[in-house]
Amino acid sequence: MKKTLQKKELLCIAGLILICLAWILWLKRPKEHVRVDVIHDGKTVLEFSPDEDAVYHIDGDCGGLDVEVKDGRWHVIHEQCPNHICAHTGWASAEDMIVITCLPNDIVIRMGEYTYEAQ
Ligand SMILES: [Zn+2]
Repeated sequence: MKKTLQKKELLCIAGLILICLAWILWLKRPKEHVRVDVIHDGKTVLEFSPDEDAVYHIDGDCGGLDVEVKDGRWHVIHEQCPNHICAHTGWASAEDMIVITCLPNDIVIRMGEYTYEAQ
């Protein structure tokens, strides 16, 4: 009787360890699969990977803006809009999932779907 209890306890601990491992793996999921979508006027006009440092220009209704990508994060620079809310939003990343919007330009910069490459 005692033996079966110990076995159940071991199974329970093993299950908890597995859940923890799965959680850690999920947290440390590869970032290269993260994609950021830039939407203007309801259409995706640009997709970029946060892992590639770059500056992208997006044309908008008020002259557009630039998105600077650096060290896995991105933010709006050189925006030509009256309220500058998009630039004041600051840095966004895959972890915080902040959506940067520029209403005057009708531009939304948000996390795209996760894409998993077939193994
Ligand atoms: Zn703006």
